[in-house]
Amino acid sequence: MSSLYINGSWKPAASGNTRDITCPATGETVITVSEAGKDDALAAISAARTAFDSGPWPTTPTPERAALLRRIADRLDAERDEVARLESLDTGKRHVESLIDMDDIASVFRHFADLAQSEAGRVIDTGMPTISSRVVTEPVGVCVLITPWNFPLLQTAWKVAPALAAGNTFILKPSELTPQTAMWLMKALEEEGLPAGVANLVTGSGAEVGPTLTESADVDMVSFTGGLVTGRSIMASAAGTVKRVALELGGKNPNVIFADANMEAAIDNALTAIFLDSGQVCSAGARLIVEESIHDEVVDEIVRRAKLIRLGGPFDEKANTGPLISEEHLAKVEKYVAEALEDGAKLRCGGERPGGELAAGSYYPPTVLDECDGSMRCVHDESFGPVLTVETFSGSTDDEKEDAAARIANDTYYGLAGAVWTENAGRAERMAKRMRHGTIWINDYHPYVPQAEWGGMKQSGIGRELGEAGLHEYQETKHIWHNTAPAEADWFPKN
Ligand code: NAP
Repeated sequence: MSSLYINGSWKPAASGNTRDITCPATGETVITVSEAGKDDALAAISAARTAFDSGPWPTTPTPERAALLRRIADRLDAERDEVARLESLDTGKRHVESLIDMDDIASVFRHFADLAQSEAGRVIDTGMPTISSRVVTEPVGVCVLITPWNFPLLQTAWKVAPALAAGNTFILKPSELTPQTAMWLMKALEEEGLPAGVANLVTGSGAEVGPTLTESADVDMVSFTGGLVTGRSIMASAAGTVKRVALELGGKNPNVIFADANMEAAIDNALTAIFLDSGQVCSAGARLIVEESIHDEVVDEIVRRAKLIRLGGPFDEKANTGPLISEEHLAKVEKYVAEALEDGAKLRCGGERPGGELAAGSYYPPTVLDECDGSMRCVHDESFGPVLTVETFSGSTDDEKEDAAARIANDTYYGLAGAVWTENAGRAERMAKRMRHGTIWINDYHPYVPQAEWGGMKQSGIGRELGEAGLHEYQETKHIWHNTAPAEADWFPKN
């Protein structure tokens, strides 16, 4: 199938190469797509450059751009079930979870439509009556948007919606494993009237086409969501042309439970924090940091309930969560757990891939590693699987407890998200202030709204998506000074 969308046309790869996409729940092929190479990437850059430099989109009035985004949201509402099905076939994720993602995606398109229309620039009062001074925003230019496989269309929407709202053109490079919903989006944009060359899709391996996209002098910005190691190499390859870089990377997110928390809610959410989507969530609460006095009560119950979680494919209505994305990723998670045990972690449940009818898919069970501490690799490295590490803190005074909890929660080179559970509002606020992570939940885990910024501190990334900042990533700021009564500067002598 021709899956490259370049300059308004669907094309096969110039090389003729293709790739089979398999469903991780069954290992069966769900579609065969074109496998782009460097020549296809260069063609996509050229189309996006021409569409930006001489096409109508950058100067299309904002209300018209916003209207197109709203039509995409409406279309997604109408085709929700089918698009969710495509997402589930590519990722193995439960269909019911993909349906929730579709609703979030529609909200993201509507958020950026509203935001773009509400922006009016700024007028500066210079105190000089003949001077008009104003600050306006303009699109950045040609954007390369690179997305991961865990929330394929959602992560794409976080980039495509603001990029289009601001008037940019783009080349989208989805994960090679999950291209189908990106293809749906291109088709929807085409049918809703987006001019040729504004949106381009390159399906293919990041290692093959990535450097061509990120090094090009014709690209003005790279927005990337994915792993830390890839993020570092993208930042380095973008440096040669000093292009704008936005990075949404991994996380090793602390979930801190104090003894004065609402225990039922804290335990229940600790399970959701890590085991939702089998832990393949950048903000997963993978580090449980629990007050020592309640360790047994909390961890025994989490282990009991983790064992009840039922694994199954996207359309198995009895399943609670699905497979990992691939055999390759499963092998990485197995290695991560083996190293944790070598380092002294205690396996409380999980830790072994299931057999029987699940053996055909890349399943891994909810796994709890107890008795962990900051000297172990498992506490610092992202497994990106359903693996919870448990650490404890204690203190003889309230201050000592908070100091210990905050120190452990910040003992990570990541800084994406974290949570604190306590019924003491003062403690909750103090902890939220001390924890160096881009999102802090108090007595909750995972919810987000498109109106609030999302992104990481430290090595979790650079910049923010969503909120207002998520639009500003895709805008240049320009100051226009207009002297309505030109006069000589009278600075240098005339004779
Ligand atoms: P990944 O291996 O880094 O890949 C992400 C994307 O980068 C894919 O499209 C990949 O293409 C592409 N890529 C690979 N090498 C490249 C290169 N040299 N140049 C340009 N692009 C390249 O990450 P992943 O395994 O897909 O995703 C999991 C990671 O994403 C986790 O670390 C997770 O925490 C992070 N994540 C972060 C957020 C956030 O909001 N902060 C959200 C979701 C996920 P191929 O698929 O073809 O290799």
